[in-house]
Amino acid sequence: MDFRSLHEECGVFGAIGVENAYDVVMTGLAALQHRGQEGCGIAYTDEDGEIHVDKGPGLVFRVFSQVIPGSHPGRSAIGHVRYGTAGGREADNIQPFAFHQHGDDYAIAHNGNIVNAKELKAAMGHREVLFSSSSDSEILGHLVKMPPYGKAPLSGDTLSLALNRIEGAFSYLVLIPDRLYAARDKHGFRPLSIGRLGSGFVFSSETCALGAVGARHIRDVEPGELITADASGLRTRRWSRFRRNALCAMEYIYFARPDSDIEGVNVHAFRKESGRILFEENPVEADMVFGVPDSGLSPAIGYSERSGIPLEMGVIKNFYVGRTFIEPTQQMREAGVRLKLTPVRSVVKGKDVVVIDDSIVRGTTSRQLVKMLRDAGARHVHLRISSPPLKHPCFYGIDISSESELISSRLDMEEVRRFIGADSLAFLSKEGLLLAGHRTDLCMACFDGNYPTALYSFR
Ligand code: SF4
Repeated sequence: MDFRSLHEECGVFGAIGVENAYDVVMTGLAALQHRGQEGCGIAYTDEDGEIHVDKGPGLVFRVFSQVIPGSHPGRSAIGHVRYGTAGGREADNIQPFAFHQHGDDYAIAHNGNIVNAKELKAAMGHREVLFSSSSDSEILGHLVKMPPYGKAPLSGDTLSLALNRIEGAFSYLVLIPDRLYAARDKHGFRPLSIGRLGSGFVFSSETCALGAVGARHIRDVEPGELITADASGLRTRRWSRFRRNALCAMEYIYFARPDSDIEGVNVHAFRKESGRILFEENPVEADMVFGVPDSGLSPAIGYSERSGIPLEMGVIKNFYVGRTFIEPTQQMREAGVRLKLTPVRSVVKGKDVVVIDDSIVRGTTSRQLVKMLRDAGARHVHLRISSPPLKHPCFYGIDISSESELISSRLDMEEVRRFIGADSLAFLSKEGLLLAGHRTDLCMACFDGNYPTALYSFR
């Protein structure tokens, strides 16, 4: 993985009908921190049912470091962790967004990316001036107050109508004073799970955060489903008849935490199975196999189990190097890789090694890693990638570099191998990816260019 080249845009967490919902959401967001580190926020109802928002740049426990546990006794809240692009109005784009329109108070948190955002904003005409951020995530908040349903109270009906105008990837949490709505796009790009906590409910981008707050996973929100949660429990409806299960393959490969379950499949189990299939598709003889932390570790276990090649710890990750140390120049990137990854010389010296990584973006990190392993005395370095070659950009909320920066888009496999300097290089197939998750469908557009939606003005 090339550091700073591939990022999840965000994660959402919500709670309703639970004591100290603010504290619960804060804990949930901390468990989703891997999905975004640049900003976070919580929208919450107070005891009078009014909605307030606290948010700021930075990590969850930094932004909320002054919060005294139990000081927000309201029973519903939603929160968001964000990965943002550099510069611009970054602080304005931190979610949740709060609205007060036509007598309604509500707040919205969104994970994903809207591909017809420009068209929707143009259709809203003069209302565009009402946008308080440059984030497309704000769009739903204005759409629900557009004619013909503009003055009607926000409800499942108005939300369903608005959701039908939005195209792209989204998992939404919408908070109104006595209710919480959870919706997932009809292709199911981004995950969203439901948990039971006491007599209330929680919603989370990943199940790892359900465990962190002591909730029990009930099920996932389905693609095209809108859930209403309030004092009388959960109600479900479909806001779209169309349905696909095109979950983002990168959630399994790279983004999600290994202890999360997505649509019935544990992420670690998926990765391990992908490693087993990777060996079946691309066997090699070697003295040891090891994974590049973190998301290369699980496939390395699978590769080792299937091949019988001993699993080792050939490379160590420095967990204390923040992204801020890694600047987008080649020189700084190389320094960043050296700081972040270190081969274990006594382990790899004189050995034939298989290195498992989750993906190759620019190829520069892999090249440097191979060089560091050779410098540490490795005899042969075989690189195995637990995903197909990345060739196309993502328009659904993952910050994948443009085609010109993706090495597999420009070079064939042998050329990539030569650039990286490995003795052999192989990738998991698309079929292997589906097999690893026992699935028939996934979004794999960044591998094959088959985008599940129209791309509107993105292309
Ligand atoms: S294009 Fe790639 S990164 Fe984007 S949603 Fe699809 S699988 Fe995920």
